[in-house]
Amino acid sequence: MMNGTDDLQQQTILVTGGAGYIGSHTVLQLLQADYKVVVVDNLSNSVEEALKRVADLAGSNGRNLSFYKIDLCDKNALENIFMVTRFDAVIHFAGLKAVGESVAKPLSYYYNNFVSTLNLLQVMNDKGCKKLVYSSSATVYGQPKAVPCTEDFPLEALNPYGRTKLCAEQICNDLHIGDPEWRIILLRYFNPVAAHPSGEIGEDPLGIPNNLMPFVQQVAVGRRRELAVFGNDYPTRDGTGVRDYIHVVDLADGHIAALEKLFNLSDIGCAVYNLGTGKGTSVLEMVAAFEKASGKVIPLKVVDRRPGDCSEVYAATNKAEQELGWKARYGIEEMCRDQWNWANKNPWGYEGSLEKDCM
Ligand code: NAD
Ligand code: UDP
Repeated sequence: MMNGTDDLQQQTILVTGGAGYIGSHTVLQLLQADYKVVVVDNLSNSVEEALKRVADLAGSNGRNLSFYKIDLCDKNALENIFMVTRFDAVIHFAGLKAVGESVAKPLSYYYNNFVSTLNLLQVMNDKGCKKLVYSSSATVYGQPKAVPCTEDFPLEALNPYGRTKLCAEQICNDLHIGDPEWRIILLRYFNPVAAHPSGEIGEDPLGIPNNLMPFVQQVAVGRRRELAVFGNDYPTRDGTGVRDYIHVVDLADGHIAALEKLFNLSDIGCAVYNLGTGKGTSVLEMVAAFEKASGKVIPLKVVDRRPGDCSEVYAATNKAEQELGWKARYGIEEMCRDQWNWANKNPWGYEGSLEKDCM
């Protein structure tokens, strides 16, 4: 793949949090696009097995992947990695991401997400590596006043996790204002779901899943009895919450598009793009699509609304389409097919039936 600035030389990308759900899928797409990839991850919410499978899936390009188990809060360890490798750009996924846990443990969230991001930006700055793709979230739209959400909507954080995302976006903006050499793309993900079509890598949350599809998948394989539907009295088609689900492989490809933009456009500044499909799907529609794809019945129980939930959120996709040349390819049917394929092949996730609480 040609990357504009340095066509003949293979580009080397540092991927923080690359053993995690979105990171592992992005690392695979990067390897397949002929990038060299160095992953750093402390494995606090992931396992090295994910990267072994990524390397296998990448075939001969798997040799272009290396992994360091380090915590980004350890600045010396990070500096040592920058000492031995010159990075062309960084994709920063690493962070804690569970909204409910962030309310219960705000200090852990603020410490981990801020210290790791500040360490990374400082080391990048010191080493002159000034191209960054940052994992942000639709959570920064708070309770959006309208849909679809465009990138210029007012921003609001509703919980500590959201505050770490919003504040990191602002830090990136300030960094570019202070030093225009920085090229930064903030990607606001909507609702990543599904898994690589091989069924070899996917999402494997620890404990009780917070998000809809991992929960549905665990009901399908018999690990949980029923899905609690959080409210059916929203002002939506069927009363349940509507979200913009996006296939994780599409999301991963969005990162490749963002990187290419960083390499090719010297005055990109600090730009922001939504990564979504632009389509809203309700909880009941999603469950019906999963039942169809899996042939399993998902028992449901309607319970109270989850505090802080919005009724309807979906992305405006024009900006990413026009400026990044990226558009999601997969629909709900393919998302559910690939979610089920991963679940069916790996009912207990990466590590078989070693741990895990049930029901
Ligand atoms: P994940 O938990 O699967 O991956 C995050 C990875 O970061 C994990 O492998 C974890 O071990 C690692 N990590 C955490 N703190 C670290 C530290 N201090 N040092 C080194 N490694 C560390 O999560 P994901 O779903 O892949 O999310 C990736 C990014 O995307 C996160 O920043 C998240 O906030 C953001 N995001 C996720 C979603 C989603 O629904 N999954 C939505 C919007 C934004
Ligand atoms: N949801 C649900 N039961 C669950 C998990 C989620 O009904 O066990 C609903 C939730 O209320 C929302 C949708 O599914 O309407 C997506 O929730 P998720 O937590 O996956 O994403 P987010 O709300 O953070 O966008």
